[in-house]
Amino acid sequence: MNDTVTGIILKQTDYREADVIISVLTKEYGKLSFVASGARKMKSKNAGAIMPCTIAEIQFDYRPDKTMFRLRTARTRQYFRILHEDLLLSAAASAACECADVMAMAGSEEEFITEKYELLETCLTYLNEKKDPDLVLACYLAELMDLFGISLDVDECVHCGSLQVSAFSVADGGFLCEECARKASVPLRPARQLKRLRLVVKAGLKHFAAAEATDENFRQELLDLAAAMRRHAGVEIRSFSFYNSLFDH
Ligand SMILES: [Zn+2]
Repeated sequence: MNDTVTGIILKQTDYREADVIISVLTKEYGKLSFVASGARKMKSKNAGAIMPCTIAEIQFDYRPDKTMFRLRTARTRQYFRILHEDLLLSAAASAACECADVMAMAGSEEEFITEKYELLETCLTYLNEKKDPDLVLACYLAELMDLFGISLDVDECVHCGSLQVSAFSVADGGFLCEECARKASVPLRPARQLKRLRLVVKAGLKHFAAAEATDENFRQELLDLAAAMRRHAGVEIRSFSFYNSLFDH
């Protein structure tokens, strides 16, 4: 049976002599893998349409018992040109796509397929509009963690329930009051920092404009969310290290 899906290309891996395997987050079925035969040959007509961090329409032969399919044709639906011309934005896009890729593997049952697709599509759209990549990624991670049921608790102290919060604990996945933070040897944080983290977690990309309007710097909040995801989802996002290294000078 010939089928067509629309999907975001998450990853491309060389396979055999001239083929590639692509991992694609589709709107219709969640994450699927395709073998693109001959995609590394100069004259391949599909090569241009299977670039990571782009949206493609893919025709393939569907088989109900398979998880990997042979790609027939691929056509670019959205290239996100501005994003791909900028080192920082493209690094942020790679990190977002890698998150979607590794998280989809970590989750056993696929829920919220459409939401996950739309979340990543919005993330790439915002990066392509040159919005602050730290904030876009932070809001993306916050909403992604929420979809996977591991969102941070930023309403109260996760130990005692006190509303007077003074610290953020990666290990506990949320805020701590001053007393609980001291007991757990977690460093205290400025109130403004905790307020920013709460804002990002509450906003996600859905209410991005509210976080953007503050005109604050969200570098620390992105590092906090990435650390929490590494810890609670048990996944390592290699593209994050590269993205972060771009700030180290
Ligand atoms: Zn407490």
